[in-house]
Amino acid sequence: MGPKPSVQLDDHRMKLRKIAAMYHFYGIDPLSGKCEDCPHFISGEYHGRRYFKCTVYGCSHSESTDWRKSYTACGLIDHDFPENDARVIDILKHDPILKTEQIPGQMTVEDFL
Ligand code: SF4
Repeated sequence: MGPKPSVQLDDHRMKLRKIAAMYHFYGIDPLSGKCEDCPHFISGEYHGRRYFKCTVYGCSHSESTDWRKSYTACGLIDHDFPENDARVIDILKHDPILKTEQIPGQMTVEDFL
């Protein structure tokens, strides 16, 4: 096997960071629901590709905001989210600590091994 796994690992870390940020701000659903059952979860099709997004995390045309149906839901699954509140992706972008440091309670790749 070649060195490709490091690229995949970085991608995996980035995905975990997104859902970890949601847990950091909103907690984890105590009933262990899935994101696919959340009203803030959306799906669509673009250029023949199916995509999933969390509207609270934030949406873009980039795969970097893609979401997974199978994620364990955050605490917002049963709650409204004010339309004008900042999206998590924007909070992360503008907070130098959250942007570079590990978020408290953030899962690591090792947690899944
Ligand atoms: S439960 Fe809803 S708001 Fe929370 S991360 Fe999943 S899709 Fe986003």
